[in-house]
Amino acid sequence: MKVAVIGGGAAGFFSAISAKQHHPEAEVSILEKSNKLLSKVKISGGGRCNVTNGCRNINQLAAAYPRGEMFLKKAFGTFNTRHTEEWFESRGVALTTQDDNCVFPVSQNSQSIIDCLMNECKKLGVQIEINKGVTQIQAQNEKIELTFNTDETIIYDKVIVATGGSPKRSGLEWLEKLGHNIVEPVPSLFTFNMPNEKVRDLMGIVVEKTKTNVQGTKLKSDGPLLITHWGMSGPSILKLSAFGARILSERDYIFNIQVNWVNEQNAEIVQAEIRSIVEEHGQKKLSNYRPFLLPDRLWQFLIEKSEFPIDQLWGNIGKKGVNKIVEVLTNDVYAVSGKTTFKEEFVTCGGVSLDDIDVKTMQSKVVKNVYFTGEVMDIDGITGGYNFQAAWTTGFIAGQLK
Ligand SMILES: Cc1cc2nc3c(=O)[nH]c(=O)nc-3n(C[C@H](O)[C@H](O)[C@H](O)COP(=O)(O)OP(=O)(O)OC[C@H]3O[C@@H](n4cnc5c(N)ncnc54)[C@H](O)[C@@H]3O)c2cc1C
Repeated sequence: MKVAVIGGGAAGFFSAISAKQHHPEAEVSILEKSNKLLSKVKISGGGRCNVTNGCRNINQLAAAYPRGEMFLKKAFGTFNTRHTEEWFESRGVALTTQDDNCVFPVSQNSQSIIDCLMNECKKLGVQIEINKGVTQIQAQNEKIELTFNTDETIIYDKVIVATGGSPKRSGLEWLEKLGHNIVEPVPSLFTFNMPNEKVRDLMGIVVEKTKTNVQGTKLKSDGPLLITHWGMSGPSILKLSAFGARILSERDYIFNIQVNWVNEQNAEIVQAEIRSIVEEHGQKKLSNYRPFLLPDRLWQFLIEKSEFPIDQLWGNIGKKGVNKIVEVLTNDVYAVSGKTTFKEEFVTCGGVSLDDIDVKTMQSKVVKNVYFTGEVMDIDGITGGYNFQAAWTTGFIAGQLK
């Protein structure tokens, strides 16, 4: 059996290894269009490679995927985060789980993952060809013919497509021509630009517990928020960008976000806390007593934003003042205009429609003997090792070549 794996990224390598493990007799080749292999693994996680996530609950795990949740929930039954850890550790890559559940190699170096995948290919006899770009794929009875950038054509028994996310629809045209539905690609995992907001002066500040939402939508998120030179970032914002990838693209990245700086869902709790400060610390200036232990620079900024006089005493803010503070702490609005792709990790929302793929095998429902794995499919996750996990899971299943 002659098997081609198109694409030498995480999903391509994992599916090729799985194919050779499940079918030792098969001739398996990874065909990579560039002269680099596993290039995203190399730069991933800031060069450390966040290889998976420590989450063991399949429902919770699947919920980390704005696109592909239901599909992956089924696939995780076959290969999930536990299998990923066992897979790498049993091949000599020691892993460590951080407090935030992100899993990295103990070496803190993505090269450990690359070396492991390369060694495994070598051991099993997976062939690897670089500078071998596929330009066309055609079904020939039950066989698959690939055309290369050199105009050469080769016929295979089975083909696994692992070409990664394509930011432009045109990059997926060859798969569309084969009969697959393409879900329009748009970026996911980006930070928010706020060119007209003074909050940018606070760049570098991290607020550990926030809730954020996009005004006029159901999009909401929580977690740490980082103020940057351009606007806002951090897990809370990246999650919002992932779940809102399509809506925010339709709005051309112009919208308002509301920030709850104190992560208290209930404004009454915040109000009670503010009232007790008024009673107990009435003689102190607002600027000298921070509620909820907010970062000092942020608190000074919020007092100014609420237009309190610089020497305002807590005791004299009155009912209106209490309401104003509650509002700025729990419902602070910022205008977003534009986005910046997160330097640590970005992915594509959209790709080959999951309706066209059998989750049990990753085989195309449109063309027999064509399989899909990784980001080329309409699957993407939030940050935290979830995107590689999708590649390992779908790669393992595709490689079974069922
Ligand atoms: C900077 C950055 C950091 C990231 N960090 C993390 C992280 O720490 N953890 C995490 O889980 N996720 C991370 N991600 C996301 C993760 O890297 C991707 O989701 C994952 O690499 C997708 O794997 P893939 O194999 O599907 O696609 P890719 O890694 O994109 O690989 C696809 C390969 O196919 C090749 N190819 C494309 N078209 C053709 C063709 N026609 N013929 C032949 N070859 C072709 C490409 O050249 C490429 O080598 C990060 C992403 C970025 C950009």
